[in-house]
Amino acid sequence: MFENLSERLGGVFDRLTKQGALSEDDVRTALREVRVALLEADVSLPVARQFIKAVEKKATGAAVTKSVTPGQQVVKIVHDELISVLAGEGEPGSLRIDSPPAPILMVGLQGGGKTTTTAKLAKRLKERDGKKVLMASLDVNRPAAMEQLAILGQQIGVDTLPIVKGEDPVAIAKRAKTQAGLGGYDVYMLDTAGRLSIDEELMSQVEAVRDVTTPRETLLVVDGLTGQDAVHTAENFDTRIGISGVVLTRMDGDGRGGAALSMRAVTGKPIKFVGLGEKMDALETFEPDRVAGRILG
Ligand code: GDP
Repeated sequence: MFENLSERLGGVFDRLTKQGALSEDDVRTALREVRVALLEADVSLPVARQFIKAVEKKATGAAVTKSVTPGQQVVKIVHDELISVLAGEGEPGSLRIDSPPAPILMVGLQGGGKTTTTAKLAKRLKERDGKKVLMASLDVNRPAAMEQLAILGQQIGVDTLPIVKGEDPVAIAKRAKTQAGLGGYDVYMLDTAGRLSIDEELMSQVEAVRDVTTPRETLLVVDGLTGQDAVHTAENFDTRIGISGVVLTRMDGDGRGGAALSMRAVTGKPIKFVGLGEKMDALETFEPDRVAGRILG
């Protein structure tokens, strides 16, 4: 069983003499526990190493006040550093959707939660921001996915672009753009096709769609429970397509969310939202302090 990190560190420091400042040895001993905690939370090894190095520098020599134990002091430094890595620039959850109709491109692998997240986000934009939203599915290989988006649209009261059989993704994207302009929509969301793994056909298709729409936001939807795989997916999509942010799904699951840290460290792109369930309301703004607490256990 995983113990609370503060307790673990408390145990480590009980064996050390209390001093006015954290010594190099204290810090090193404590950070061994932190490293284990990070790895247990599914943070990738290189990211965990890099993180520990940064904390080691900050913590060595840091003053320990009377009100805290050295263990608590290290936990605070670790916690603050986690938040600073996790937090991106700008308001969490903010999207650049000023000039209407603003295109939002949704990308990711099949099963990551892309279609569900498209609908959740559309609902949020409609209800919280009063935006008129149009959704379009570009998943021509999976008619069921196109149907799924249409059904979700009906459920949440958001329009979907009518399905025309035989149309290719670029043609659908163009039609969505035209329709969004004519219909006075503030935002149009393009739910691209997913694949089980990244392949050339998928990437060139998403690229072509990107080029005809020039999205204001390109959001990668990725399963937060897939750890290291999620990071590879993010790297690939960012290099090839250029993403503006990430949505981590399944954060309602048992995972401790280490993928969030790896993803931020590796891509530098902000995590904008987290998915917390299958229901249409289960989408929240990403909150670095909550995830930091969870990663530390
Ligand atoms: P897509 O293939 O990427 O479009 O994935 P879907 O949107 O179809 O989602 C796949 C499954 O994951 C569905 O059963 C969704 O209800 C479920 N799902 C999506 N997001 C979440 C989430 O945040 N938490 C949980 N528990 N399930 C989710």
